Amino acid sequence: MFQAAAISNPNYNLTGQDFIVVGGGGYIGAHVCKRLAERGGRPIVFDNFEAGHEHAVKWGPFETMDLRDRGQTRAAFQKYPNVKTVIHLASSIEVGEGERAPEEFYENNVSGAFNLLMAMRATGADRLIFSSTCATYGETQNMPLLESEIQNPFSVYGKTKLAIEHMIQSYHKAYGLNYVTFRYFNASGADEGGEIGEEHDPETHLIPNALKAAAGLGKGLKLFGTDYDTADGTCVRDYIHVSDIAEAHIQAIRAMDGGLTQAELNLGTGEGYSVLQIINAIEKVTGLPVPYEVGPRRDGDLTQLYANSAKARKILDFTPENSTLENIIETAWNFHRCKWGV
Ligand code: UDP
Repeated sequence: MFQAAAISNPNYNLTGQDFIVVGGGGYIGAHVCKRLAERGGRPIVFDNFEAGHEHAVKWGPFETMDLRDRGQTRAAFQKYPNVKTVIHLASSIEVGEGERAPEEFYENNVSGAFNLLMAMRATGADRLIFSSTCATYGETQNMPLLESEIQNPFSVYGKTKLAIEHMIQSYHKAYGLNYVTFRYFNASGADEGGEIGEEHDPETHLIPNALKAAAGLGKGLKLFGTDYDTADGTCVRDYIHVSDIAEAHIQAIRAMDGGLTQAELNLGTGEGYSVLQIINAIEKVTGLPVPYEVGPRRDGDLTQLYANSAKARKILDFTPENSTLENIIETAWNFHRCKWGV
């Protein structure tokens, strides 16, 4: 099996602290909850369980609630008046769906975050860690991406996340909300113990879809476009292990305890891999071929995105120690094999 994930600042302890984790039943949220609990904290999950899973809530209580309902959101927050730090990971994430149904994206992501901010202000929770995305940057040749890069999102998904970033900045300025906004690059891999992993339905992400094809399940992988302006014609992304993302949240709490009041931080490794490179790496790790068929470009996809991650390293003293491509694929494969029984 796998060794325990490497962690930065392993002695940082959260004993006795409660955290509200909105979207804690989701892929990244569940990994964040596990890390909080490992450090002695108590994650309280708020989730509507449309995309998240009750079975992924293992480390504390949960409330079934929907951010789109302002009254319900406020009532849920009022049940936990002592919570100071909120981690917000709940959103619609499927890029193509955002292009087809923007109204639902704006309602779920932007109205939902607004209701969350109002509830936090009403109950005195004054620290927020927010999951934003590299998709807020838009098409640019300036790689690796710095946080100061112009944000001109191409997709509806990116636009909704940027709108939330702006709301949070306004709350910081006017009402003193302290925050860390993480711009995630491509979250991937699974818990080293195999306990939790990526379980989207429908699954749209490259690595689980390619693993499924390697396992001989489904119709094979559809590769979205080989006519991009990259070395092999396929899109380039920065894949960061979900356990490293979870650990960055702990380090954000530590930094805020130490006086950090606001930061926008990229969460990536700085390494870009093309879709074909990922397919090759999966074939190497699994020893199985990945059958795929080339299709047209997917709506909303950018050519390449990879991070300059120096700022997170400096401000949080954080390094993505579990994010070799091999470890990402091995842990994801381990999780999916158990789930699929292959
Ligand atoms: N991709 C693909 N086939 C799939 C899923 C994804 O070719 O079934 C491509 C997608 O077009 C993008 C890259 O893989 O270039 C990463 O996509 P993913 O959905 O995993 O993450 P995103 O970058 O959209 O957040």
